[in-house]
Amino acid sequence: MDTPPVLPPGRPAVLAEHQAAQFRLLADNVPVLIAIFDAVDRTCRFANREYARSFGLDEHSVLGRTFAEIIGEEAAREIAPHVERVLNERVSVNYERRLERGDGRPHWIEVNLIPYVPAGTDRVESAFVLISDITRFREAERAARESEERLTKFMQASMEGIVFHRDGVITDVNPPLCELVGYTLEELVGRTALSTVAPDQVEVVREVMASGRETRYPTAILHRSGERIDVEFIVRTLWFNGERLRMTIVRDLRPHLDALARIQHLAEHDPLTGLLNRPAFMERLRERLSRPDAPRAALLFIDLDNFKRVNDSLGHLEGDQVLATVAERLQGGLRASDLVARFGGDEFVVLLEDVHQRRDVQTVLNALLSVVEVPVQADGRDLSVTPSIGVAMYPEHGDSPEELLQHADTAMYLAKTAGRATSRFFEPAMAQNAYADLVIEAELAQALTADEFVLFFQPQVDAQTGHLTGAEALLRWRHPERGLLTPDAFILVAERHRLMVPLGEWVMHEAARQARDWHERGIAEVPIAVNLSSMQFRLGSFAKSVAHVLKTAGVPGDWLELELTERMLTDEIDRLPELLQSLRAQGLAISIDDFGTGYTALNQLTRLPLDKLKIDQSFVAVLPDDRGAAAITRAVVQMAKGLGLRVGAEGVRNPRQWHLLAEWGCDELQGEVIAPAMPAGEFEAWLAARGKPRPPGLDI
Ligand code: C2E
Ligand code: CA
Ligand code: CA
Repeated sequence: MDTPPVLPPGRPAVLAEHQAAQFRLLADNVPVLIAIFDAVDRTCRFANREYARSFGLDEHSVLGRTFAEIIGEEAAREIAPHVERVLNERVSVNYERRLERGDGRPHWIEVNLIPYVPAGTDRVESAFVLISDITRFREAERAARESEERLTKFMQASMEGIVFHRDGVITDVNPPLCELVGYTLEELVGRTALSTVAPDQVEVVREVMASGRETRYPTAILHRSGERIDVEFIVRTLWFNGERLRMTIVRDLRPHLDALARIQHLAEHDPLTGLLNRPAFMERLRERLSRPDAPRAALLFIDLDNFKRVNDSLGHLEGDQVLATVAERLQGGLRASDLVARFGGDEFVVLLEDVHQRRDVQTVLNALLSVVEVPVQADGRDLSVTPSIGVAMYPEHGDSPEELLQHADTAMYLAKTAGRATSRFFEPAMAQNAYADLVIEAELAQALTADEFVLFFQPQVDAQTGHLTGAEALLRWRHPERGLLTPDAFILVAERHRLMVPLGEWVMHEAARQARDWHERGIAEVPIAVNLSSMQFRLGSFAKSVAHVLKTAGVPGDWLELELTERMLTDEIDRLPELLQSLRAQGLAISIDDFGTGYTALNQLTRLPLDKLKIDQSFVAVLPDDRGAAAITRAVVQMAKGLGLRVGAEGVRNPRQWHLLAEWGCDELQGEVIAPAMPAGEFEAWLAARGKPRPPGLDI
């Protein structure tokens, strides 16, 4: 340091004065505090106005005061080491000081102490003090440091991964991000941000980066292991130290998705068993069937046997326990990929995929049947809850979930009626009406042994006098669930499945027994008419079975009448005349039922040994208004008379019809106007209450 701007000794006074003024002007107008102190007595030899003022003095009064007097003893002590260094070591010293101002805000100064060693000497003659206020600079610096610190702290504290990148190159990441992707900070810094993005997401992320948008969006990244992680990116742009940085918060969506999955699980599963519920199963079934490469599959509809009984007698808790056990065993007997659902109550549904042959399915069915059997004690009895299983195959039994389910249900119902704890494959014959038939068939077989059939009796009376001439036995089935069934609900099925033979025999026997009862008790000494089915009639052994019935019931043949339809006459029955002859020989009367609806050749009527024609109800029903029906009825009556046959009319509903039929020459009448078909007891009561019969039709 040379040529200090102090009054150099030995210079001309004018120049010195001039220079001093210039120096003063300069010193007073720089934003720096300037002072010069004597190195020996430490008094102030020069100070600019700002310096003097900052200590409450002016540029004149400050002169001659010692350093300690100006800045205070304490401050002087503080900076004494710096001063000593300047004086003793003859070096410039630079330090900063924090001062408290009146307003309490911190105030920063930078102090430069510069020794003055006159040329030619080695002694420090004086020291320059230059003080600049650096408060603003310090504050700016602190603010910058604090914001960086804040960001760092925030980044460190965040549970979410955060990555900074500049122009797509990673500049910083926080520990959670490292953890999320499985790389260290060192490995990540310098890499391109896109390198951790899942390949299928790279384009989207690149686009967002290029656009500079501040946004948030779901995407996916890759863990070091290659595992894909669903995340959300929240992207912000920051200006930092004049640089444009991109900050991305990487939020792991997995816990969130897990929660969603849990909620979805709740919505899709039966809480009791944990199995899929109905809507969820149907949805998945639909989804699987809609795949173009959907494999052959089997849909199992499972209903538990005896469950209702267990639930009713042991209570719901026990019932729930049984259901849970069944669910467990079902799953145990199946592959993990099979879909298992509880449809509610004691119904379960299973989808077996990839079953190539029925044999494969049968194997599974056998396994389920043996494994799903829960023994329980109910009502003091040993019961076992077993499955009845119906199976529909995809695609042959349907390609929609609903159709498959419907068919599996049908097959299940049949499995159930065939005896419990068994399985059935759907067959197209089971569909629609045939389904009901099969159900009835299964039930009919049991009904006969369970004594569920009864005979009703409908009176037949003399059209002129109203006297009882006979009774028609009409079959009824007291179905345990469906109530009293009339023949139209089951006769066709019984015929188709040969059950009509034993059933028809039962009817004949029961009718004969009733006839004897009434004869013996003197209630009604009239024949009972029995309807025959063509199946019975066609059997070669029919005449013999009739003989057997008569014999076992102990009644003569003329207590029974047989009603045949026209169809039976036109069917090719071997030796029909002989058959009828042998029946008549046993005393039975033969009548043709529903006459007028078939195509009996008139010459046949003349050749066959018959007793009676019953005009079909359809003609009677429309009397008297339908002139065609009236004409036919009258013609039939006349023809029958001509052939020497009796004529009956059935379905007579009102006195007007009765009156007409009687007038036209009908012999016997049957229908609601007289009485409906009734159980034997009611029939007797009706008869007893009737007193002296009178044809009401004749009164009007
Ligand atoms: P069907 O032999 O023509 O029997 C007369 C049917 O007409 C009976 O119906 C009877 O209840 C009904 N009926 C009689 N009068 C009236 C009336 O005034 N109004 C109405 N609406 N109906 C009347 P059900 O008992 O339902 O029998 C229907 C058919 O079932 C019978 O027709 C018969 O073909 C057959 N069937 C009845 N029992 C047996 C049986 O034991 N064996 C056979 N093979 N078939 C039987
Ligand atoms: Ca009849
Ligand atoms: Ca009839």
